[in-house]
Amino acid sequence: MELTFECPHCRMIDHTESVEASGRALCRHCLRERELAPDAFDAEGGLAKCPACGSADLYIRKDFPQALGLAIVTAGFAASTAFWYSERPLSAYLVLGSSLLLDMILYRWVPDVAVCYRCSSQIRGPGIDPGGRRGAFDLAVGERYRQERLRARALKAGGASAEPESKPAPEAGGDAT
Ligand SMILES: [Zn+2]
Ligand SMILES: [Zn+2]
Repeated sequence: MELTFECPHCRMIDHTESVEASGRALCRHCLRERELAPDAFDAEGGLAKCPACGSADLYIRKDFPQALGLAIVTAGFAASTAFWYSERPLSAYLVLGSSLLLDMILYRWVPDVAVCYRCSSQIRGPGIDPGGRRGAFDLAVGERYRQERLRARALKAGGASAEPESKPAPEAGGDAT
């Protein structure tokens, strides 16, 4: 499995291949290593927890940027509108239909990715969803972690703790649509 994570030191995004075996992840931007959760994988080698932060709350989504899907449909719509105005309705329908079809095919063809609610790390590869227990993004769980991040941020802003541990993670990529 491949882990994509945000470096807690320099906040850059990096990834580590075969996290099952490595036990630690190296950030190639600042060359600092971080320990991975030792119990992140179950006995069968399936993903049990987020290797980066140890949270068991993960959701599954398509490894497909939503912006790309939207761009395909938007481009199809724009092209079909152009055909429509040049009085070629058949081409208009054809373009619109094929852009929707292309979007559907891409969606079926792209693999899944597991995403951590807490730290937004992404895990790719076989075994990310052993037994198919994990669901899609759950708004309630996502909100719980968002509140947690806000509290952590407020705590830090208040100067209660100078520890760089509970850093706010970026939003999970707009999956809550
Ligand atoms: Zn780094
Ligand atoms: Zn995590």
